[in-house]
Amino acid sequence: MATQHGVSNQPPPLVGYNLFDADPALRESLEREGGSWAQDAVHELGRLAGTEEAIAWGFQANANPPQLHTHDRFGNRIDEVEFHPAWHRLMEVAIGNGLHALPWREPRQGAHVARAAAFYVWSQVEGGHGCPVSMTYAAIPALRNQPNVAERWEPLMTTLDYDPGLRPPAGKRGVLLGMAMTEKQGGSDVRANTTRAVPAGVDGEYLLTGHKWFCSAPMCDAFLVLAQAPGGLSCFLLPRVLDDGTRNQFHIQRLKDKLGNRSNASAEIELDGAWAVMVGEEGRGVRTIIDMVNITRLDCVIGSASLMRQAVAQSTHHTAHRSAFGRLLSEQPLMVNVLADLAVESEATTVLMMRLAGAIDRATDPREAAFKRLALAVAKYWTTKRSIAVVAEALECHGGNGYVEESIMPRLYREAPLNSIWEGSGNVNALDVLRAMKREPQSVLAYLDELDEVRGMDPRLDDAVRNLKKLLSDGDDAEARARTVVELMAVALQAALLVRYGDPYVADAFCGSRLDSGGGRSFGTLQPSSHLPGIVERHRPAI
Ligand SMILES: Cc1cc2nc3c(=O)[nH]c(=O)nc-3n(C[C@H](O)[C@H](O)[C@H](O)COP(=O)(O)OP(=O)(O)OC[C@H]3O[C@@H](n4cnc5c(N)ncnc54)[C@H](O)[C@@H]3O)c2cc1C
Repeated sequence: MATQHGVSNQPPPLVGYNLFDADPALRESLEREGGSWAQDAVHELGRLAGTEEAIAWGFQANANPPQLHTHDRFGNRIDEVEFHPAWHRLMEVAIGNGLHALPWREPRQGAHVARAAAFYVWSQVEGGHGCPVSMTYAAIPALRNQPNVAERWEPLMTTLDYDPGLRPPAGKRGVLLGMAMTEKQGGSDVRANTTRAVPAGVDGEYLLTGHKWFCSAPMCDAFLVLAQAPGGLSCFLLPRVLDDGTRNQFHIQRLKDKLGNRSNASAEIELDGAWAVMVGEEGRGVRTIIDMVNITRLDCVIGSASLMRQAVAQSTHHTAHRSAFGRLLSEQPLMVNVLADLAVESEATTVLMMRLAGAIDRATDPREAAFKRLALAVAKYWTTKRSIAVVAEALECHGGNGYVEESIMPRLYREAPLNSIWEGSGNVNALDVLRAMKREPQSVLAYLDELDEVRGMDPRLDDAVRNLKKLLSDGDDAEARARTVVELMAVALQAALLVRYGDPYVADAFCGSRLDSGGGRSFGTLQPSSHLPGIVERHRPAI
């Protein structure tokens, strides 16, 4: 029977593709950075991430945000958050694939790289559940500052079992960790924390009283918390359930009504004499928890790279199936320019993220450790900002369809700014780069060494590195100019990595638009070239 209203010129949904196979920049980086042994595992995760079922979990988990239950029906405090079943499915896959623990379970060369590739692929399905996964991964280096605590918790944090629910840690097949630093009066300036820690009478044990203004994933089994001990601001591990089965004095006041990241819960909490054990030295809490923050910064870069990649995959796919004015959008020169420009930014971020993960793997080499110190902060600043612009432009490639919730684009758009806020907002990150350069001058040498590796390979990059060196030697108004310096450091590093390892046409387009005066202020302003369609094709998932 003829339909009253036929549908034409609408693209097929982007399902049934393998997110790993469809991403040459990722595949090449995984091999180059020492993670080729993980190819099969990431390939399998890439397949799952492209299935209709997994994509549906992402939509369901966001359409049905978590619900807070402060009390049970009899009036007892329970402080529990209920998640949609789709959230649990997403978590099962993430934990089952070791995205929270792979390098700690299998400390072999390329383990952080393999985990970065897998986290990037899986986060494209849904970003919110990455929060507890990432915090658990990142907590281990901080926890190791207190070997007796790490000995007890690490084996539970590194199993591949997702075992939700508030129970004593000893009886669980696996546990998750979060962190609570931010208070009402200050998040960047954590030294202004007012939560007090009073010795509980047993060595290392304290009772904490105070509040935290942001505490994400409050159903985690324990949190690393900053509080003022008699000897100054210190780091503590605070479990939700005590060994005897009673609940710790950790009360959830309410959940934040957030712009994005809606599948995940972010709570305001109060601690009312909550039991905790000190991690690291008393009075050195920031020094201790920074080991966690540094790793979560890598995940902000991975999260941004994954948002960009998913946005580019969606827009190259959409435009390859949608026509206007008698021709496919993907064949129209101006759209090709926009898509290629987005693809170039996405590839530069993927390559940078994998280089950083590789530096973490190789951090026993002092040069790599020094490079990592600076490069992580630089990359966190820059990639988290770029992802916002990339996602917005990719959304526009879809026209009106991109503004509608049924496409994934609004969700990506709302998620994008978060990575630049948490784990050190933009300015704080830029100032951290200055601090690192001052306190650890060897990090600057390692950074410049990385850039000098490609000297003579592209004159535009040679000029940019010369300018950067001049800028770095000028100490006037350093604080006010921090963003200018960090931005140039970031694009010079991305250019160096692309020139050295990347697709030559992508590298050329990057240098011509990001280093030279040839690029404009919005995407779609690359110098026209016969190579642009090839760049777009490299980034289009073939389904
Ligand atoms: C969804 C979500 C989840 C979160 N989850 C957690 C969590 O689980 N645990 C946790 O501890 N925190 C969490 N946070 C809090 C987050 O880490 C803080 O919001 C962030 O660190 C910024 O702190 P603030 O909000 O107090 O802003 P402020 O510190 O007031 O900063 C405001 C602005 O001022 C800038 N600024 C600060 N100092 C300077 C300076 N010296 N010079 C120039 N500019 C400056 C900052 O860059 C920022 O742009 C979460 C936040 C969000 C949005």
